[in-house]
Amino acid sequence: MDRESVLEKFKTLNLFRKDGVRAPHKPLLVILAIGELLRGKGRLLPYSEIDTKLGKLLSEYGPRRTSQGTQYPFWRLQNDDIWIVSDAKMVRRTGSGDAFKRDLIDYNVHGGFTKEMASQLQADPDLSIEIVQGLLDGHFPDTWHEDILQSAGIELTAKGVTRQRRDPKFRENILKAYEYRCAVCGFDVRLGLQPVALEAAHIKWHQAGGPDVEVNGLALCSLHHKLFDRGAFTLSDELEILVSENAHGSAGFQEWLMRFHGEKLNFPQRQTYYPSADYTHWHLNEVFQGDYRER
Ligand SMILES: [Zn+2]
Repeated sequence: MDRESVLEKFKTLNLFRKDGVRAPHKPLLVILAIGELLRGKGRLLPYSEIDTKLGKLLSEYGPRRTSQGTQYPFWRLQNDDIWIVSDAKMVRRTGSGDAFKRDLIDYNVHGGFTKEMASQLQADPDLSIEIVQGLLDGHFPDTWHEDILQSAGIELTAKGVTRQRRDPKFRENILKAYEYRCAVCGFDVRLGLQPVALEAAHIKWHQAGGPDVEVNGLALCSLHHKLFDRGAFTLSDELEILVSENAHGSAGFQEWLMRFHGEKLNFPQRQTYYPSADYTHWHLNEVFQGDYRER
């Protein structure tokens, strides 16, 4: 298979897609498997091992309602023509054609890339890296990439792999709407004339089809951008900041997160720029972790 066809296969993984509902299972499994391959682990890994590692990634990087269901991507990736499962014949199927998790464990079933795919990936490390970068760009916001790579033990050092470019006007429009300060803490440090560590965040991610418009944006300092993108806080219908019960800490937690709990956003300068409930609801359902604390 030539390089382009390989890249195309990973770009068009059969994913469950519906109205921006996140489907991180297959992308995370592929990233995990590439990480193992790059570190010289075997091509085929026992399901029990994948279950532990992928379960951890899903609990960290999946939506909060995601069942850890690691058997689904492990089994369904076979349909994408890049993945095989050993002893598949022994495994009983559910009504939806998925595997029984119990059987995957009991029969010590192994899964991994096909021979052809694995040898191609091993022969061309830049190809692996390009695939991983494509999956990150396609499914997760920039603020997550480094964390996911670390979790999967991958270092992106390929030459010529460029990060996805965005509409540069989005940033400018959002920062202007919020008068160049963080919508949570008001941070507005400048270096000369330029704001620093102040970013334009998408409420509904670009990767989930969120548009580059003011009502889907927030100006956030780097810290609040990351906390928002990872679901440590979300916004209520009244545009109050709501902190997750799962978020905690000592140094910084009170000063940088908890003290804003129940407070209103620093609103943008025009009412027509106020975040839209279409997007804040998406963030609540797809990104926010756990339940919010009592107000
Ligand atoms: Zn801030």
